[in-house]
Amino acid sequence: MSQTAMKWTVILLLFVIIVLLSVCLYLDIDFSGGQNGLVSTPAGNSSSTDTTAVNAFATDTAPITYTSPVLTGTETPETDPPVTSIRPPVTTPVPTTEVPETTTVPETTEPPSVTTERPYDPDAPTICIDPGHGFTDPGAVAKLNGKEVYESTINLEISLHLKESLEKMGYNVILTHDGVNLPDEEYLSETSPRYNVNNRRKWILDRKDSIDLVISVHCNTYSTPTPSGSRYYILRTDDEGYNSRSYTLMTKLLQSVKTAFGLSKEPSWARQDLAVLKNGLPSVLLECGFLTNPGDLAQLVDAAWQTRYAQAIAEGIAAYCKAYVTK
Ligand SMILES: [Zn+2]
Repeated sequence: MSQTAMKWTVILLLFVIIVLLSVCLYLDIDFSGGQNGLVSTPAGNSSSTDTTAVNAFATDTAPITYTSPVLTGTETPETDPPVTSIRPPVTTPVPTTEVPETTTVPETTEPPSVTTERPYDPDAPTICIDPGHGFTDPGAVAKLNGKEVYESTINLEISLHLKESLEKMGYNVILTHDGVNLPDEEYLSETSPRYNVNNRRKWILDRKDSIDLVISVHCNTYSTPTPSGSRYYILRTDDEGYNSRSYTLMTKLLQSVKTAFGLSKEPSWARQDLAVLKNGLPSVLLECGFLTNPGDLAQLVDAAWQTRYAQAIAEGIAAYCKAYVTK
């Protein structure tokens, strides 16, 4: 064979090879031994992203088995599970609403009442206050600005101020009455006035062992408007003169009132046979002023004056108790 013939033979063989390769590619003939060029994908799922897809040119020729129930089952293919978003739900932040500041309501405490009994202190002296008159007995009656003023009202007001002052100092205080409630029936008289001085004396005597001293509160009157100022009275007995402890108590009261009010003239005092003072205890009856004196009357009805006066009396009582009452 000539060289030219050899040359054309080679060219022809190359051409035939190219043609054969082209035909094979066209017919999609697999030279790797597989059934065909593409591996079957599960029915209804030919997505290239399916994990069961196998590279067509993989060298692993082991038979591929499917375990998907879709392929083995004959029943109705499972429907796709409901799509559940794996993205966490966007939670719209709930705006925090301004909580209005709550107004702190202070604890309400019961206001101290005048009639509230202070707990009894066995280590403190006990003072008995007798507000003169009361109930059906108004005592002396004065006129102020066209209105009647009862002595019993003023007596009770001063007595309550005195009670308050003494209790603040730590003393026990008892009243023969509070102006509202009458004592028990045994202390009442069938004659008018029902709760008279004799009945109060009985009331005090029944409590004598627990009382250290007695103060009876009154206001004075006279036939003319001239007399003014306080008068203090203690009991006089025919055989003993007067009770020395009552006298000492009275002088303490006089000193205290003189100091508090700067009196140029000391309140006078006298010894009288006053039933309410017949109790054997240190006892003083106060006539705080004259209802018949215009100047005294204006003071006697004034709450500020009543408070000052009661405080002075309380300090006189305290001076006496510190010196003479042992507990
Ligand atoms: Zn009186």
